[in-house]
Amino acid sequence: MTAKQKQCLLAYLDYYHGAIDSSIGPQTRAAVLEFQRAEGLTADGSPGPLTQAALLDAVAAGRFRVEDARTPEETTGTFWDEIKYFTRDEPGIACPCGRCGGFPVEPTERLMRLADRVREAAGAPMCPSSTVRCHAHNDELSGSTPNSRHLSGKAMDFCIRGWGADRTLALVRQQPEVRYAYAINGSYVHMDVE
Ligand SMILES: [Zn+2]
Ligand SMILES: [Zn+2]
Repeated sequence: MTAKQKQCLLAYLDYYHGAIDSSIGPQTRAAVLEFQRAEGLTADGSPGPLTQAALLDAVAAGRFRVEDARTPEETTGTFWDEIKYFTRDEPGIACPCGRCGGFPVEPTERLMRLADRVREAAGAPMCPSSTVRCHAHNDELSGSTPNSRHLSGKAMDFCIRGWGADRTLALVRQQPEVRYAYAINGSYVHMDVE
């Protein structure tokens, strides 16, 4: 792919607003960086083979740039800023028991990046039902194990809207970071990471 083709595709997808001049300067690199982040690729600003493949795929699938809804004050300076589909404060992330403050541990970066990738691959809304749990809450849930990975912020239970658990589980199991995954019922799936 030539530099000009890359600029054209980035412009078509609404990431690049500069001249189509075949020169990969700072403005093109910034567009590449934003595209890589949106696609969950290694964000290095360099349009290598993976980025080029993603560009073609994004064009084919019509994945145009989405304006980041967060205002600058809401950025956290943590990995959460790069998580596209989830926020720390949304339902289903914190422990819901009302006694532990919600975050006896933090969800791990590895888990949230995995969740983002699953959501991206699904192309449909993903609804976490349980991520972080304190020991007291974990103990009162039926069917939970005493050494649950939810206790260390390394597990998420969720469904993908409109999908059965079998389909969701098949997608989850394609992700290399997944340590263990199983269907909780007809809709919900548990997945965890190292
Ligand atoms: Zn709790
Ligand atoms: Zn679980």
